[in-house]
Amino acid sequence: MLNIILLGPPGAGKGTQAARLQAERGMIHLSTGDMLREAVAAGTPVGIEAKAVMERGELVSDAIVSALIGERLDAAADKGAIFDGFPRTGHQAEALEILLGQRGRQLDHVIELVVDEDELVKRITGRFTCAKCGTGYHDSFRPTKVPGVCDVCGSTEFKRRPDDNEQTVRTRMEEYRAKTAPILPFYEAKGLVRQVDGMASIDEVAAQIDAILDGQTP
Ligand SMILES: [Zn+2]
Repeated sequence: MLNIILLGPPGAGKGTQAARLQAERGMIHLSTGDMLREAVAAGTPVGIEAKAVMERGELVSDAIVSALIGERLDAAADKGAIFDGFPRTGHQAEALEILLGQRGRQLDHVIELVVDEDELVKRITGRFTCAKCGTGYHDSFRPTKVPGVCDVCGSTEFKRRPDDNEQTVRTRMEEYRAKTAPILPFYEAKGLVRQVDGMASIDEVAAQIDAILDGQTP
């Protein structure tokens, strides 16, 4: 049973890889944000507590998040876990070790999807879709065959997501670095950090992650 932390900024394909690992390996994806929303909706004991905290406009404490993760690990008949969004601090990293240890588990790898920020900006800001049929395009990587005309339906109207702009992408990268900076040294000291090229294709990233999980890389 492998337990891993998956790190990567928005746009690096973390969600895609986590979904694949769930489907192919029977691992559970423990995304802190999703778990909180689900626990609140399901009204579990931890969910009720978290809801009260959030309604007061306060941040959910480490203890609540830890309890939530424990609740999930105990309920799942999983073949491993993918932690996403937790830990964020050295203190949380220590809490995770205890949580896992209490269940006879240990953290095997911290996989970091490494991206080139300028390249990521180019990828994300170039995206647009046909307003009529929804076909996705990209200014540089997948332009329409005839400029301004959808290849599929011939429409001349297109949409861009307002948050697909350079400033948003750079802000998200900054937030990501701020969130991971406290924990990377913690795991580097333990020799657990493995870097994967997050700019590679989905299949290549998958192959790199599989090689790590199958012990084919040092
Ligand atoms: Zn179209």
